[in-house]
Amino acid sequence: MRHVVVISTGGTIASRWQGDGYAAEAAGQEVLAAGAVPECVDVTVVDLFTVNSSRLTTDHQLRLLHAVHEALADPSVDGVVITHGTDTLEESAFFLDLFHADRRPVVLTGAQKPLDAEDGDAAGNLYDALLTAATGRDIGVVIVFAGQVFAARGTVKKHTVDARAFGDPDGLPLGRVEFGRVTWGRRRPRAEALPLPAPGVAPPRVDIVMHHSDGDTVLLDASLAAGAQGVVVVGTGAGNANPQVAARVAAATRDGVLVTVSTRVAAGAVAPLYTGGGAVDLVAAGALLAGTLRPGQARIAILAALLAGRSAENADGPDAAGGGQAGVRQDAERRRAAGATLRRILDSTPQALPASELYLVDRVGK
Ligand code: ASP
Repeated sequence: MRHVVVISTGGTIASRWQGDGYAAEAAGQEVLAAGAVPECVDVTVVDLFTVNSSRLTTDHQLRLLHAVHEALADPSVDGVVITHGTDTLEESAFFLDLFHADRRPVVLTGAQKPLDAEDGDAAGNLYDALLTAATGRDIGVVIVFAGQVFAARGTVKKHTVDARAFGDPDGLPLGRVEFGRVTWGRRRPRAEALPLPAPGVAPPRVDIVMHHSDGDTVLLDASLAAGAQGVVVVGTGAGNANPQVAARVAAATRDGVLVTVSTRVAAGAVAPLYTGGGAVDLVAAGALLAGTLRPGQARIAILAALLAGRSAENADGPDAAGGGQAGVRQDAERRRAAGATLRRILDSTPQALPASELYLVDRVGK
């Protein structure tokens, strides 16, 4: 028998009709009872919380991170399955993946149809996830949905309601689950795991600000005024904005704010192709390009970099670091270290541009 811990967090897979809409309410045992468990698997259920995932906070994600590490502290556990809302599943999956150093897998799954739907996808997805968790090795944190296995990094929710909810716009699935078997394709190299933050750290504020025609810096200013330690600028095209935004980014990075550039386009990497407020100028302003990471995961990269190895005492700002000059110094050091960690995370993210665009990069290089 293989022993899998199922951590239940809510989502549509735990949702029922409330009279005016659906909401998560079922406990893990009820979710599990909706379908069959593979014969070779025995399950322990942990009810961590029951929320729809658009309501998740960093605090929830930190609790989930520690719950996973607690489960894997038991050597008799072969793998972990997390039932999760699909809306922000790609964020939690990537967050967990960045801190995951164990050979045993962590598998996130959910459903597009609620628990009480007669033709629902909860039972099938959970069965496939249990099988993957029981048998996979060295795959890191993965998302199992509609018969496909995806690496956490790079995978996004690609359809609001279709059963094939997830995909990697720049890559292929790692495997498939069919006829009660997991078949593996290529393996991806895994980046070194970040050191865990201590339980109880104060989560830093990290925001996402999207650029658009007629865009200005009002939302970026508001984010920085609210104390954001990191911001994702979601550029147009290959990661472009305008000169006002680039100037504001330069001021923010001078103050130690971590800024990454992602794109509102569904596929392809961001690239330093355009000046006049484009990614060329954003990079010159101190922003880091997020490669093929879509905005939600670009934000998680910053969040994880800021949290890596943090202890509860030196949570936030100069006061928390002991006050006075020493505190300011420690705070600056922490930000520098977080910047270096973020660079490492992004360096290990595919930066690939389609061959058809490479001529532009060649020209920029000349
Ligand atoms: N709104 C739901 C959630 O993310 C959607 C889902 O679970 O599929 O929790």
